[in-house]
Amino acid sequence: MITIQLQCRHCQSHNLVRNGFAPNGKQKFLCKDCRRQSRENPSTNAYPQERRDEILRAYEERSSLRGLTRTFGVARSTVSGWIKKSNCLAAT
Ligand SMILES: [Zn+2]
Repeated sequence: MITIQLQCRHCQSHNLVRNGFAPNGKQKFLCKDCRRQSRENPSTNAYPQERRDEILRAYEERSSLRGLTRTFGVARSTVSGWIKKSNCLAAT
């Protein structure tokens, strides 16, 4: 049996308890330290790379986060996180 070390994505605590399932069937966890919820997979994998590229390309064309969130239904903070990341990669 493989034990996966789960980590709270908010406070990096390992003090998690099972807390039901997300609508997509993923196990949800509640952090006992910060009382916030985490999912089984970290949020960085929430969207496949292809989807990200598609959204980032659309962003370069339109430069409108508001339009993107309307079109793709992704959170603005998620997209701006990707943009920051891709800018970092481009700069190196
Ligand atoms: Zn936490």
